[in-house]
Amino acid sequence: MKDLSKLGFGTQAVHGGTEPEPITGAIMTPVFQTSTYVQPEPAVAKVHEYSRTGNPTRDALQVALATLEGSEIPAVSFASGMAAIDGIVRLLDSGDHVIAGDDLYGGTYRLFTKVLARQGLRFTFVDTSDAAAVKEALTPETKLIWCETPTNPLLKISDVSALAEVARDAGCWLTVDNTFATPYIQRPLDLGATFVVHSTTKYIGGHSDVVGGSVIVRDADLHERLCFIQNCVGAVPGPWDCFLTLRGIKTLHLRMARHCQNASAIADFLQAHPQVEKVHYPGLEGHAHHDVAARQMSAFGGMVSFELKGGVEGGRQLCMKTKLFQLAESLGGVESLIEQPATMTHASVEPEVRRAAGLADGLIRLSVGCEELSDLRADLEQALLAIAES
Ligand SMILES: *Cc1c(COP(=O)(O)O)cnc(C)c1O
Repeated sequence: MKDLSKLGFGTQAVHGGTEPEPITGAIMTPVFQTSTYVQPEPAVAKVHEYSRTGNPTRDALQVALATLEGSEIPAVSFASGMAAIDGIVRLLDSGDHVIAGDDLYGGTYRLFTKVLARQGLRFTFVDTSDAAAVKEALTPETKLIWCETPTNPLLKISDVSALAEVARDAGCWLTVDNTFATPYIQRPLDLGATFVVHSTTKYIGGHSDVVGGSVIVRDADLHERLCFIQNCVGAVPGPWDCFLTLRGIKTLHLRMARHCQNASAIADFLQAHPQVEKVHYPGLEGHAHHDVAARQMSAFGGMVSFELKGGVEGGRQLCMKTKLFQLAESLGGVESLIEQPATMTHASVEPEVRRAAGLADGLIRLSVGCEELSDLRADLEQALLAIAES
């Protein structure tokens, strides 16, 4: 593995994990579409013995992701973001307690409450943007603090350094789900997190064509335990998926710069619009956690959410009137998306829980893509006009 640790992010994104293939010189890591490997003698492997345990295309992806998050130890990749999240939580034992954010990705909340809670793990959901509230929720059984920052869909920001301090003092782990920010914007391991987890389905892959997840750690013992779970449980990504994700990584810096630029301008546009009630974007001065965001992030990301004065019905109409912003779940691809969290991505969260976390039923979430800003702005403008007239 080349030492890229002192080089710039763009160089790391282009070169991380990829070495010319030794036999042919292929500059891009091939898709090693094989389930098993011929061994020179019993119980001796050339490199790998079986593709659940290891695969060269997956190796390249795992090194690339670790390079971007600033770890010398390869990432541990899974078949989806959910499998990666599950991989971390499987390090815990029945009876252990987890403190998790109250504004989590709907699928994470569902995994915690509907599956893992039945198996003896205990969860307390608190607003992780309030480190004192997290500290207060600690019990002697707390083993893990789980935070997303920015959160989905309200884009609340948690102070990762403050949470890392709480975790360190309590002798427990801190996971940061870095899916929304990506390492282009925020590097949680540098801020003291134990685990970084990604749904690489989103910005890392970046082209809405592959599902995947990865965990990055700096601790060699935790890495070994995660690899054991990866192999033992078997929720591994196939080589094609690893190849596509690795290809996405090579332009992460270019795409993220454009996502951030476009999103910031769209947030300004919406904030100034008479039909818009409220805009959530950490780059706005008026955002409740703007200072923390400015401290720990180098830009403010590609996600914007907002409420219309027209409430639930206005939001529903808007989602159907945009043309470039396509109505779909997911985020982080080059194409812009629009959705209504209460009825789509967050429908698995109980209405009372959603509302308690401040997620209004009429909230609209945008994943601002890499198109021309003027076209995106015009698309929202015409859709807002159309609902005003209807
Ligand atoms: C999408 C997402 C996940 C789940 O990842 P999948 O790849 O869909 O399994 C987890 N966390 C966040 C923040 C996400 O956006």
